[in-house]
Amino acid sequence: MNKDYYETLGVSKSASKDEIKKAFHKLAHKLHPDKNGGDDAKFKEVNQAYQTLSDDTKRAQYDQFGSAGPQMGGGQGYGQTGGFGDFDFSQFTQEGGFGFDMGDIFGEMFGGGSRRAKNRRGADLQTSIGLDFKESIFGVEKEIRITKPSTCNTCHGNGAKPGTELHTCSQCNGTGVVKSIQRTILGSIATTQICNKCEGTGKIPKDPCQTCKGKGIVNEARTIKVSVPAGIQNGETLRLQGMGEAIKGGQSGDLYVHISVTPHKTIVRQHHDLISSLNIKLTDALLGAEYAVETLDGTVPVIIPASTKVGDTVTLKQHGVPTGGSKRGNFIIKLNIALPEKLSKRAKEVIEELKKEGI
Ligand SMILES: [Zn+2]
Ligand SMILES: [Zn+2]
Repeated sequence: MNKDYYETLGVSKSASKDEIKKAFHKLAHKLHPDKNGGDDAKFKEVNQAYQTLSDDTKRAQYDQFGSAGPQMGGGQGYGQTGGFGDFDFSQFTQEGGFGFDMGDIFGEMFGGGSRRAKNRRGADLQTSIGLDFKESIFGVEKEIRITKPSTCNTCHGNGAKPGTELHTCSQCNGTGVVKSIQRTILGSIATTQICNKCEGTGKIPKDPCQTCKGKGIVNEARTIKVSVPAGIQNGETLRLQGMGEAIKGGQSGDLYVHISVTPHKTIVRQHHDLISSLNIKLTDALLGAEYAVETLDGTVPVIIPASTKVGDTVTLKQHGVPTGGSKRGNFIIKLNIALPEKLSKRAKEVIEELKKEGI
């Protein structure tokens, strides 16, 4: 990473502060990642070189030791000088330790107000729905009712009474942002802020929408359809894009729907298979029989073969969890032999006979 900073900026080792600054400005314009033909990696290199060489102490350290000392932060922040003519980047020679994110500041200052305004995004919201076991396996359409800031249906969010026009915001001249200079421990920082009059849209309705009073946003209960996919599991979360908080002039947040599934009384899930157990009679285990087994597809007749042992299983193919297309996992029945708790006299006699048979 420690390339020659002078080389990076294309200046000589004896370059004056002014020459360094000029070289940096030129390169920053050329390489800015937002520009056509910009180069993010090189831009960061240039920025890092400038952060060191524009600071007398760091430059001296660099000249002596080939690095600017332990406080070199890598220079993640970047910017472009467009619109800020003489802005002095040397105020930002150190990253970290000031409790804010360089990238953020530069983004706000130099990203261009309108881009920033467009990047505004409403908050993500969360809710949860409960499903019964069968719904979780086969998927289901659910409706949730949630009260949240939503785009006004009357004006579709622009805040104007339908059929009326919007005019350019006088406070920001339609840019959606206002610039201001703040004094901080780092010196003057030029910041852009979302225009509070038009909320970043750059436009003001002549005649406000009556439903939302011109806000473009209404806080009301909305019914949202949720398409729960087949095979969802307890604890999973669905993300409904754009169904979170709506904000004027920005992108709506997302709605996260947490899923809780009520367990089934007799069936449990194992990956794509469904497992249940069945108690069969001793004689059925010995001789074989037919049982009716409750599955998620209704009751299914199941043949128990003769000489069934405890722990044997019967597999019903295509009765498990849908796995895409028409494919499904298996429904597996674990067999258990229910021995009689008490034997009648006759039963005892018969079994004694069996014993003689060697069974
Ligand atoms: Zn409205
Ligand atoms: Zn404005």
